[in-house]
Amino acid sequence: MTVRQRPSPNFGPRMVGDRVNLVILHYTEMDSAAAALERLCDPGAEVSAHYLVDTDGSIWSLVDESKRAWHAGVAFWAGETDINSRSIGIEIQNQGPGRDAEPFPRQQMDAVSLLCQDIMMRHRIGPGGVLGHSDVSVGRKVDPGPEFPWARLAAEGVGLWVDGAARPELDENRALAALRRIGYAMDAPMTTLAAFRLHWVPEVAGDAPLDPLTMYRLETLATRMAGL
Ligand SMILES: [Zn+2]
Repeated sequence: MTVRQRPSPNFGPRMVGDRVNLVILHYTEMDSAAAALERLCDPGAEVSAHYLVDTDGSIWSLVDESKRAWHAGVAFWAGETDINSRSIGIEIQNQGPGRDAEPFPRQQMDAVSLLCQDIMMRHRIGPGGVLGHSDVSVGRKVDPGPEFPWARLAAEGVGLWVDGAARPELDENRALAALRRIGYAMDAPMTTLAAFRLHWVPEVAGDAPLDPLTMYRLETLATRMAGL
């Protein structure tokens, strides 16, 4: 795994100790990795990430992992609000839903998978610690979006995925309790349910009524997250 250096001035100290327990995945929503690198290194933009992965699998390091990069913004997960201090941020070159001829090509995902596995091993982060920006900034961000191959990565130990199906009883209160146990912000529960589906039930519309597949994956994930 070759990692090229492109230092960004956009970082600060981690504010809540050195413990890193999350990896947050983003897409750039820009036309090219070159344009994204420009922006992530522009002091005026005040945004950055630790890494950027291009469509051909090239990996760029922008901010040292010991520093706090500025990728998550206003965010929440499992009681924490300073997600930037707790996480490694990875920007993935992608123009946004429906805009790339081949979104998230295999060689790009090979690189993302290896990079995440390396980070997870060094920081002792379990599979449940790999999340999308859409998970930690509910209602404000949708990246890495509905086309992101979460299932493929989970098969390699990067993130969690639920296969199979059952026909559980639908219970809205239990569904919301599961969302909270997984780690989501619950200020606007229906928006949170949509964010959950974007990541873990992409085959169901975000605003659909509660359905058995969503219920099953919610409760299965809540149980697996609690065991990590
Ligand atoms: Zn993002």
